[in-house]
Parts: sequence; C-alpha cells; structure tokens
Amino acid sequence: MRLLVTGGAGFIGSNFTRRQVKSGIWESVTVLDALTYAGIRENLAECESHQNFRFVHGNILNQTLVNDLMAKTDVVVHFAAESHVDRSIIYPHLFVETNILGTQVLLNAARIQNVKTFIQVSTDEVYGSISKGSWPETDQVNPNSPYSASKAGSDLLALSYNRTYGMDVRVTRSSNNYGPYQFPEKMMPLFITNLIEGEKLPLYGEGLNVRDWLHVEDHCLGIELVIEKGLPGNIYNIGGGTELTNIELTRMILNVMGQDEGAVVQVEDRLGHDFRYSIDIRKISHQLGYCPKIDIQIGLIENIQWYQQNANWWKKLKKYKSA
Ligand code: NAD
Repeated sequence: MRLLVTGGAGFIGSNFTRRQVKSGIWESVTVLDALTYAGIRENLAECESHQNFRFVHGNILNQTLVNDLMAKTDVVVHFAAESHVDRSIIYPHLFVETNILGTQVLLNAARIQNVKTFIQVSTDEVYGSISKGSWPETDQVNPNSPYSASKAGSDLLALSYNRTYGMDVRVTRSSNNYGPYQFPEKMMPLFITNLIEGEKLPLYGEGLNVRDWLHVEDHCLGIELVIEKGLPGNIYNIGGGTELTNIELTRMILNVMGQDEGAVVQVEDRLGHDFRYSIDIRKISHQLGYCPKIDIQIGLIENIQWYQQNANWWKKLKKYKSA
C-alpha cells in the first residue's frame, strides 16, 4: 500500500510520517508539503535516507500536482492546514483557502484516481465550546473561530464525498496535541521556550479555559487504528483524557522547570475564546481498541527535556512573527 501524507513537514504530520517510515508496512510514504512558516523540512531528517520515503515540495491547491500524486496513492492522511487559531483571527482568508479549498482539491483528485481511503485529520474545536459533559461524534458542528469554521467546512466536504460518491472517507477529531517538533507559537512550546529564555508566559485572561491534552504519539496511534480498522463515512474522536485549565497546565510547566508564578503575565483574552472543549472517546475506544498511553505528567517532563535539548531547532522559528 502507498501512503500520501499532506502537511507531513508540520508538527503532527512529521511525527506521524516518522512512525510510518520506521514501521516498514508501506510500500512508499510520500509527503506533500508547501513548507509554509509551519512546515520544516528538517523535521523529516530521520526519514530522508529511507528508500520508501519521498518528499514533494508543493501546494495542496495545485490540482495537477495533486492529481499526479493521487494516481500513485492508496491511502491519504490529510494533515496540511493553517492550524493556529490566533492567526486565523488575523488572516481568515488563508484558512478558507488552504483548509477548505485545499481539501476540496485533494478530495476531487482522490475520487478521480480511485484512492482507497482518505483520512481527514480534524479537531475537537469544530464542536465548539461545551460547559458540561463531552461531545460524541453524533453532535453537530458549531465552530466559533475562523480556524475551527474552516476545519468544520473541510470535514463536511470530506463526509459529503462519502455520501455523494461513496468514497471511503474517515474523519478524525483530536484534542490539543503536544510533543516534539511543535511550532513555538502554540501554548505548550511557547511557554517552555519562554521559560528557557527567561521570558514571561502570556496567559490569556485568568487562564480558566479548559482543554484536553493529547500526546502526539497517542494521536498518531489513534489515526493508525482508524486506517486499520475504521469504517468509511465515520468520524472518530481522539482524546487524551486529561482536561486541564490553562492555569493548571501553566503551573505544571512552572513546577517541572523549577519556576514560580511570577513568570506569568495576564494578557487580553483571545477574541471569541472558546471556554471548554471536551470530546467523548468511547467510540474509538470500544470499536477500535484505542487507549491513550502517555500520562501527561510523564509526557510533559519528556517534552520539556526535548525543547531543552533542541534549542537549535526552535530558536530560529521563534523569530518568525508574521504569516
Ligand atoms: P502545523 O501547522 O504544525 O503543520 C501544518 C503543515 O501543513 C505544515 O507543514 C505546512 O507547511 C503544511 N501546509 C500548510 N498549507 C499547505 C498547503 N497549502 N499545501 C501543502 N502543505 C501545506 O499543524 P499541526 O499542528 O501539525 O496540525 C496538523 C493537522 O492536525 C491540521 O489539519 C490541524 O487542523 C489538525 N489538528 C491539530 C491539532 C493540534 O493540537 N496541533 C489538534 C487537532 C487537529
């Protein structure tokens, strides 16, 4: 089987690609990535020497290129996206272009070239904020930011290709990922690297917003189960089972790094900031045998160590300020 990974030079995509190349189960693993500010070729350094690996520098909006790649593909895992909520508030058109139109180009080519399975990688943010309980996959999307609205749009488009054309499309919706190679604009790597550099931690409001944290390796495991055992036209939530307020997570980071709350500075809250995300993961657990393996206490310590040991990787990225 031949695998195409879009956005494989980004955070989750590169972690996923490394696992697939190492597994040896694929006849070929091809990454298609436009190398935007968030796409870093060196994230895939470990894959470059493998004979079954190929990197294609290109845009998912390029229909000719995408058609050509789909002709040599059995399974697509679609990560490529604009992924940062704060940027979506400033540049919403970029999110519509990449996340909605880009997904449509991929789906169209996958349909024409008879690709066997298309995995649309999405987010819990599409469900919107929930004060109590957790969203099952059967709930309607109710996104609030331009980012989550663009992801909800691409999910619906992907599912429409299943209903309309009978394509084997499966959607995964995961909670907040953390782990190595995450661009230092996102909360966890931003806070860790700020502390290493002796800078303040910009906390939105009082830090009471709640997120579920999922180690990127557990996310990859969930996607692998969906490829192996998932059903066409289905949505699968992938969570970590670790809900924390932002201030609780901040305190955990401060504690591991031996610093105190004097390092925190409250900043004006994000526009339209969703208060709480929570997904119900019983479907993927019961039907596909998913169980997150990495405890946040251990995952966080290892993650902090990774950023401490890989300053060369993130220091140059932190200088990047505009899209
Ligand atoms: P990322 O921003 O780190 O990586 C995105 C990648 O997509 C980059 O390599 C970038 O170069 C590439 N890309 C962007 N536009 C492209 C285009 N037009 N053509 C080709 N490549 C393009 O993102 P991430 O955090 O790794 O997220 C990956 C996917 O997972 C996204 O679809 C995101 O919505 C989803 N997701 C992320 C999280 C999270 O916590 N990070 C949680 C749930 C879902």
